[in-house]
Amino acid sequence: MSARRMIIVSNRLPFTVTQENGEVRFTPSVGGVATGLRAFLESLPNINLPVQEYLWVGWPGATIADDAKELITARAANEFHSYPVFFSEKEVEQFYQGFCNSTIWPLFHYFPMNARFDGTFWQQYVKVNQEFCNTLAQIVQPDDVLWIHDYHLMLLPQMLRQHAPNVLMGFFLHIPFPSYEIFSLLPPQCRRQIVEGLLGANLIGFHTYDYMQDFLRCVLRILGYENNMGQILLSDHVVKADCFPMGIDFDTFQRAVSTPAVITEKEELLKTLGNTKIILSVDRLDYSKGIINRLEGFETLLEAYPEWRANVALIMIVVPSRIGVLDYDQMKKQIEECVGKINGKFGTISWTPIIYQFKALHFHQLVALYTISHVALVTPLRDGMNLIAKEYIASKPDKTGVLILSEMAGAAKELGEALIINPTTKEEIANAIVEALQMPLEEQSRRNAIMQHRLRRYNVVRWAADFINDLATAGEHQRSYFAKVLTSTDRRHIIEQYSNSIHRLVMLDYDGTLMPFVNRPALAKPTENILNILSELSSQHQNELVLISGRDKQTLQEWFGALPMGLVAEHGAWIKNSTGEWKTLKPLANDWKPKLLPILESYADRLPGAFVEEKEYSLVWHYRAADIEQGRHTAHELMDEMLRFTANIDVQVVQGKKIIEVRNAGINKGAAASLWLSQQSYDFILSIGDDSTDEDLFAILPETAFSIRVGVEHTQARFHVQSPTEVLRLLGELPRAVTDRH
Ligand code: UDP
Repeated sequence: MSARRMIIVSNRLPFTVTQENGEVRFTPSVGGVATGLRAFLESLPNINLPVQEYLWVGWPGATIADDAKELITARAANEFHSYPVFFSEKEVEQFYQGFCNSTIWPLFHYFPMNARFDGTFWQQYVKVNQEFCNTLAQIVQPDDVLWIHDYHLMLLPQMLRQHAPNVLMGFFLHIPFPSYEIFSLLPPQCRRQIVEGLLGANLIGFHTYDYMQDFLRCVLRILGYENNMGQILLSDHVVKADCFPMGIDFDTFQRAVSTPAVITEKEELLKTLGNTKIILSVDRLDYSKGIINRLEGFETLLEAYPEWRANVALIMIVVPSRIGVLDYDQMKKQIEECVGKINGKFGTISWTPIIYQFKALHFHQLVALYTISHVALVTPLRDGMNLIAKEYIASKPDKTGVLILSEMAGAAKELGEALIINPTTKEEIANAIVEALQMPLEEQSRRNAIMQHRLRRYNVVRWAADFINDLATAGEHQRSYFAKVLTSTDRRHIIEQYSNSIHRLVMLDYDGTLMPFVNRPALAKPTENILNILSELSSQHQNELVLISGRDKQTLQEWFGALPMGLVAEHGAWIKNSTGEWKTLKPLANDWKPKLLPILESYADRLPGAFVEEKEYSLVWHYRAADIEQGRHTAHELMDEMLRFTANIDVQVVQGKKIIEVRNAGINKGAAASLWLSQQSYDFILSIGDDSTDEDLFAILPETAFSIRVGVEHTQARFHVQSPTEVLRLLGELPRAVTDRH
């Protein structure tokens, strides 16, 4: 692939704009996606990727007066490869403080009791996503590669796909994706739009396999889409969900340890701390970080292990975040009270158990703290990844130090050599601290060596490069799947061939091909439009029209018996040509039915919504109306049992779209179609079907035949169309093309 432009889209740009006394200032952002991506963007020219240059689209972090927008846009482009999207204060309030941080953030971090549901928040979320889409629609070129970040922009992929259907688009979620039960607490319209919104991308990345699985389960339960190894085939594009655990800029931390700024800071700190064992805790102020639990764990340590009093100190850095939000202000107060209580209870004139600071640190201060700490206590109640844990390990070139890590942090999946704990139990935290403080140096070194090896290899540059490479691969899959999509040129060609021919054979499947699926097969009666189209096609004397279906012959007779066309029932068991009677293709047995029917019925009894359809030479177990996951599970079980049970019977068990069918061996649509194909030679053959039973037919067609499969699937057919509507449109045009010519 030649070098392309990457467009990074995130809520915030990598800088904040401030305006003071008419002066505009650009301050680079610290933390968040901006810091994470910096190392990657800087190394772009030196790594082998299909993208080389970039543009970053996002909000500049402040409400900008109209007269300053032009200047800021120009400077953003020149100095920061950026393109700002501007919002009013009210929009930011309801979108960012509102839906993003008062609804999604608590819910996705498993704090439903903190989540607020407010219709105006949601409307603003839709509006801001739309605003991003409108901006991008003006910028995006067909060859661009888009990388959209995080929970603020979950509707954007689908919105943008409507404007730029073929653009390559990736999405990465930096926070957890919750379980279906939690996600379903969102109002139905809202949860549906979010899942649909994300599916607009070609690649959706998560930090862990669990988040990815939870997402895929929501897709299945809310939209009914199955996936194959994380891949979902949609009518207009292919989506892949996968996990990419975000890394850090490992070398920068390792190198920073020996810089003068860090060494000086470290010496200053050690002057006051002396020989005390240091436990470090650093987080943004947030309820998901489990700060109170951590304080209680430390308190339990001091209570249960008095020998550690005066020999240990907890340095607790809480970084200001979401200032002015009531919940956060209250949380800060609560933390400070708790720190005061513990220090009051255990502190002495010469020893303060908790050294608490509410402030943001400079990089050298943070690294100095990492290096002097014997233990890092990272105990979030829920955290998408947690980079502090990784940075602590990276800042230990001598491989000393013990990381205590909550199993609720995404990072725990990678850092298995840490002391992994459940953060909800204070005794567990206290015991882990003791274990950490007593851990022999060789053991510390052994564990840290393994973790460092991993963090060094899968650093932030690898993480981003992996994502972009997988996105490019997803684009290639997309192209191969959609190479067969029936274009208007193909359609014209088929119509032209039709009108130029004199012996035509048209073979059509019914359900899913002419008629969309419904829960009960009896309700899928042909519409007037379908009957008119079939009637027109069958009335042209050059045509042989055959309906090849899995349905029983009574139903086909009742619906289509009056038309001069061939009918094939039960996938080829019964055949009727345009003038004749119903006949079986070969002598068939159905003495196996009484043995199998009770088994199928017992499986239907256990699964609400499932039922058995009995045909003369086949039995069908339907589960379209059943619970989607339970249905899939029971179908696997039944399939397994049927295959075992029928091993010595001359039947075949076939799984179709939400059905399992048992029928005589040797019967299939291909065998039935051969009957027509062998009778005479045709100069135009068209065959259309939608599922695996139609593949038997596609397989025996001559190369010159036109075969079309409805839906995007692996197929032997020459073309794909999206839906029965498209099939009817094509079929409707065929007879008219001839009439128009004459
Ligand atoms: N960090 C920072 N300033 C500070 C403290 C921390 O920029 O004063 C950085 C830290 O280096 C880390 C990030 O903030 O990269 C915190 O990331 P994490 O995944 O641990 O938590 P988040 O804040 O994203 O929930």
